[in-house]
Amino acid sequence: MNSADLAYEVFINEPPKQDNGNLPSGEPKSFPPLASTLIYGTRSAVLVDPGFTTDAANALGDWVAGKGRDVSDIFITHGHGDHWFASGLLAKRFGARTVATEGTIGQMHANVAGRPYVWDKVYDGIPPSPVTAVTVPNNTFTLESRRLDIIEVGHTDTDASSVLHVPDLELVVAGDVIYNGAHLYLSETSLSGLDKWRAAIDRVESLGARHIVAGHQDAKLDDDAARTIATTREYLDVAEEALNVEKTPVDYYNAMITRYPEYQGRTVLWSTAQAVYGIRENPGKDPVKFIAGGWL
Ligand SMILES: [Zn+2]
Repeated sequence: MNSADLAYEVFINEPPKQDNGNLPSGEPKSFPPLASTLIYGTRSAVLVDPGFTTDAANALGDWVAGKGRDVSDIFITHGHGDHWFASGLLAKRFGARTVATEGTIGQMHANVAGRPYVWDKVYDGIPPSPVTAVTVPNNTFTLESRRLDIIEVGHTDTDASSVLHVPDLELVVAGDVIYNGAHLYLSETSLSGLDKWRAAIDRVESLGARHIVAGHQDAKLDDDAARTIATTREYLDVAEEALNVEKTPVDYYNAMITRYPEYQGRTVLWSTAQAVYGIRENPGKDPVKFIAGGWL
């Protein structure tokens, strides 16, 4: 995809090795596909949401290096570690600045604090992840004089989410605000309600982009904005109804894989199921215990 000067390409990171049991449907747990986006001009590039292991950073870095552009910035859409724990390796390799909103930077610190309880329990090979991201004035920066706008959209699958709008490409790199052929992560959302996420989708829609890169996606699908927005909205409605009707986490899991048999990310679905029902059935207990426990 390209306009006069800018173009973008998407790299789907290989899921890291995982060995912590099976899903209720029998298959081993596995991380969902994670998309990294490279926006580039004739000389320079901006990378959005690198992965989280050293192996993934090396593979993504080699792919980026093959494009022959100078990576000026790495943008992080939100604080979840899968979108950025390995970004320091890439920032060093390419001499790039790391950019995020103030809210996301706060969430990045929280995710680092949570590493020993979730991430490092499940995955080997996550590199040191100091938070080096900086904010940019007015949430805007440039790539070869073309504007890249950071749009803060509040709570989606976590607090303080943002997307990157590239008007020249009619593109939104949406992080986890929009999903594409993959199960949505609703563990944290269950605390705030789904309407905040719905409002965030409205905000993305208002940008009028034609293309949306979803952070978690089925690589076989296209990046059509209208379709990905519609399917993300629909999933929120379907999940809300199923969470009201289904009695147990396994019932919810089974209902959702029946409704979405082709969707990627069943480990995310199972994590969500355990967290939402755990929180609901244990009022007064720390919800973080259930959100973290859903991954283990
Ligand atoms: Zn996320």
